[in-house]
Amino acid sequence: MVVGRVHLGPSFGTRRNMVTTKAGVTEPARPAGGVASPARRSPRRYPTRRISADDVRDLLRGVADPEIPTVSIVDLGMVEAIEVRHDHIAIELLPTFVGCPAQQLIRDSVFDALAPLGIPVRAEFTFRVPWTSDRISPFGRERLAASGFAPPAGPGEVRCPYCRSARVAMDSAFGPTQCRSLFYCRDCRQPFEAFKPV
Ligand SMILES: [Zn+2]
Repeated sequence: MVVGRVHLGPSFGTRRNMVTTKAGVTEPARPAGGVASPARRSPRRYPTRRISADDVRDLLRGVADPEIPTVSIVDLGMVEAIEVRHDHIAIELLPTFVGCPAQQLIRDSVFDALAPLGIPVRAEFTFRVPWTSDRISPFGRERLAASGFAPPAGPGEVRCPYCRSARVAMDSAFGPTQCRSLFYCRDCRQPFEAFKPV
């Protein structure tokens, strides 16, 4: 157990690293320096050496843009950078389609997804790198089509996500959100939404 060792330093500040007594009371493993609460006031050491950027990326595969719930932000190409630092994880996200302002929701989902790591997370959107629809992974494009969305494509290249027909007509340039257009398939007669290429 952690208690009693000398050089482990203060507790890691997360519940996972606290000692639960037999009475079920959760308390910091070592209330050194009189700081007994898990408040993030003093510099703390986190077990970041055990966490890789790939671990973080895997957890982020559970986070979706609420506009496109079937495709993770990883497969959408929104995760530009992951840095595991000694006291926090820094994540850089790219906003996708202008006009789909779900950024706060996405950041909250990122925090939720990474909460099990027990480390503070900073997630920021950046315009440093432009997001383009080319960043969507092949898997992401498959998932889009499987959920009835035509992946972003140039004019004249939109295919029906249901029957792959190219005989499609745009119903409206503006779908439910500014990032999607409404189409109609002349072959299978299904309406569908297509993401606008960026
Ligand atoms: Zn069709």
